[in-house]
Amino acid sequence: MANYEQQVNDFMAKVIAKNPGELEFHQAVHEVVESLVPFIDENPQYREAKILDRMVEPERVLMFRVPWLDDKGDIQINRGYRIEMNSAIGPYKGGLRFHPTVNLGILKFLAFEQVLKNSLTTLPMGGGKGGSDFDPKGKSDNEVMRFCQSFMTELQRHIGPDTDVPAGDIGVGGREIGFLYGQYKRLRNEFTGVLTGKGLEWGGSLIRPEATGYGATYFAKEMLATRGETFEGKTVVISGSGNVAQYACEKVTQLGGKVVTLSDSSGYIYDPDGIDADKLAYVMHLKNVKRGRIKEYADKYGVNYYPGERPWGIKCDVAMPCATQNEISEEEAKVLVANGCFCVSEGANMPSTPEAVIVFEKNKLLFAPGKASNAGGVAVSGLEMSQNSLRLSWTREEVDNRLHQIMKDIHSTCVKYGTEGDYVNYVKGANIGGFVKVADAMLAQGLV
Ligand code: NDP
Repeated sequence: MANYEQQVNDFMAKVIAKNPGELEFHQAVHEVVESLVPFIDENPQYREAKILDRMVEPERVLMFRVPWLDDKGDIQINRGYRIEMNSAIGPYKGGLRFHPTVNLGILKFLAFEQVLKNSLTTLPMGGGKGGSDFDPKGKSDNEVMRFCQSFMTELQRHIGPDTDVPAGDIGVGGREIGFLYGQYKRLRNEFTGVLTGKGLEWGGSLIRPEATGYGATYFAKEMLATRGETFEGKTVVISGSGNVAQYACEKVTQLGGKVVTLSDSSGYIYDPDGIDADKLAYVMHLKNVKRGRIKEYADKYGVNYYPGERPWGIKCDVAMPCATQNEISEEEAKVLVANGCFCVSEGANMPSTPEAVIVFEKNKLLFAPGKASNAGGVAVSGLEMSQNSLRLSWTREEVDNRLHQIMKDIHSTCVKYGTEGDYVNYVKGANIGGFVKVADAMLAQGLV
């Protein structure tokens, strides 16, 4: 069965016909199928059992109405979702995203990636994703609470500590997880590990807030080591200023790198002196407590702010996109390469467009796709589930060591499956490495 391109095109034609208009889902599936078709050709048991055809079909899709009352007493209606994508190796696991752009296609892309990512962590977690087109920005705490309570009133029927364990994502942080957990507990009369990202006093894990950003930095550290490099003295450009960006900034700085940018959906700041621990503490307060805009950093520290722009034009050694999908275009990738950037570690999910990935690969950059480099978040969520089951709490050091080891192991898996001559294709490595375990479990479990 040669002619891989034809096989990919035929497969994608079916996926597109069956899932019309879901562009991000098509994009995510295409990237994976491109890596997998030659591998499946060499391992025909997967083709005969139609594993890939089954994996692109969610096990279950839930869509529901979320009515709530705003502070004026007006009725608001949002749409809630949960995609239960694949439970071959464990309960569905993946975050909830609250953002006005959320739709079925975006959540299916995220759920599909999550299946492979969770497999890469080596922990027993299936894949899922959910959320709502609700926008927490500009809402009062009471409005966010009423929304979360209404959302959970429906979602609670479908989740459970052995069934489906959601977590946070864009727009869902500690505050939202608290409101969601409170409502679940009230409706079910159960104190269980049904959500991760919980507060420390009520079942959360140390290092969970830090995990995604730290993990993406540990992964970059491993990639740099393959070329005898470290973060010491490197200039690093980061996008976003939320959970992932904040802790990537912290860990890069601890490892000797200099982070010079952060952004939000309104623009980016450039601080040539570097965002040190004190400045980062200001950002954390600004974003997590005041819920302000990154522009205020420029006003406070007298640095430049670029409204409506992304930071990829700033000269750097390492780039870490930590905001959202498709935030690095082909042109921006070319600018990064021209400016000497040689390592890209994705903190966000699918932040590089397919064209940008081609630019990175052609120029032999160290390029880590999010499903490998940002897996630290879900890995520590898995560790939170373990601690909940054991009814124990591990120390900060213990969780951080486990996270570090998991990121090293994911790196080794990518090298194992992705080495092509003198270049490691981390995209291929992550896709095949994540696929094998899920596919073998599906084979073992019969036609389900
Ligand atoms: P947060 O909500 O904490 O922060 C998101 C950041 O990205 C904010 O600065 C936000 O700016 C910016 N952003 C969001 N949407 C857009 C957009 N459309 N255009 C430009 N900027 C945007 O989310 P997280 O930090 O948790 O998530 C960031 C990325 O990391 C996402 O892709 C997520 O899926 C991924 N991820 C997160 C994990 C986690 O553990 N939290 C785990 C693995 C992946 P603004 O405030 O203006 O909206």
